[in-house]
Amino acid sequence: MLGPMVKLEHLVKQFGPQTVVHDLSLDIQKGEFLTLLGPSGCGKTTTLRMIAGFEHPSSGQIMLDGEYVHELPPYERDVNTVFQSYALFPHLNAYENVAFGLRVKKVSKSQIDTRVRKALNLVQLEDFVNRKPDQLSGGQRQRIAIARALINNPKVLLLDEPLGALDQKLRKQMQVELKHLQKQLGITFIFVTHDQEEALTMSDRIAVMNRGVLEQVDTPTVIYERPATRFVAEFIGETNLLTGTVSARDHQHMLIECEGFQIAATALPIHKNEKVTVAIRPEKSVLSLEPSADERIVQICGRLTERIYCGGSTRTVVTLTNGKQFVALEKTDQLLPAGAGDELYVHWKSEHGVVVTQ
Ligand code: ATP
Repeated sequence: MLGPMVKLEHLVKQFGPQTVVHDLSLDIQKGEFLTLLGPSGCGKTTTLRMIAGFEHPSSGQIMLDGEYVHELPPYERDVNTVFQSYALFPHLNAYENVAFGLRVKKVSKSQIDTRVRKALNLVQLEDFVNRKPDQLSGGQRQRIAIARALINNPKVLLLDEPLGALDQKLRKQMQVELKHLQKQLGITFIFVTHDQEEALTMSDRIAVMNRGVLEQVDTPTVIYERPATRFVAEFIGETNLLTGTVSARDHQHMLIECEGFQIAATALPIHKNEKVTVAIRPEKSVLSLEPSADERIVQICGRLTERIYCGGSTRTVVTLTNGKQFVALEKTDQLLPAGAGDELYVHWKSEHGVVVTQ
């Protein structure tokens, strides 16, 4: 079957007068790891619940592997969900928790045994079959929940902040494991998180949501390097934003008058005199004591205000002559010989100034 595994067509969800998902259209490919990313309350879980069938869309349609499913109850959709809360049965041991779905479907005992052992093996918990959830660690409980969701070999696995309850170290370890598992099985994963680092490290593509609106869908690299909107630029990683007006342009470049500075950027279909925002990542900028003679480099002047030690790198805050603050990164072992109050220049290559929409 060609075509996407999941197709969301103009999905809208309203709760009373509040619209929490606005006209969301998105294709998710077979075997893809797609992450819905956005701040709390932006509509990620509601979108996931509509795919699972726990919420009915106010309008719009959902296709699963070529068939419309939005009118079907959850149990008739070939998808499974893993929740942050694990939702394990406390009175059943690991084996029985994983076997539960197969027992309900009256699968034969020997089939159940083969499949449960295989699923527990996949999540490396074959030695914990007899433990009840309260005798397992958070990470182990989450693995049981994943094994249980995979036992029916669903076409799509929906994961709602599945690592949210784990401590940082375990969370990082589980991110790697989950990603490997997904590639090994080739199952389409739709993963919900508000953690941008988690989304960047795990996903094939990220769909960034803001107030129920899909702002941008692309690979982690494009989302980080070429954010399309101001929201995406600010939500993912740290960024410096300068607002201005397009003062001149040719086919390749445009000049932007930015709060007292002239900044060159790669040309976009934006007209002269239009208002724009330029986003510059701290690590794409370089500090120097002298101005650069290189015309391809954008440079602005300021004074060193503060240095914040972050281990291998140092965040250096520069107050620009227009009063705005700009954060640059320096290597801690190669700091400029400058102290608070000293004048310096912030440089970046014009292509690293990304023009974003509001
Ligand atoms: P979080 O990361 O905090 O889980 P989210 O992005 O997943 O947030 P949703 O849970 O989808 O956001 O909620 C989106 C909005 O819809 C919120 O304002 C929420 O209060 C509202 N909402 C969700 N479920 C219901 C409901 N059953 N009835 C009314 N409003 C709801």
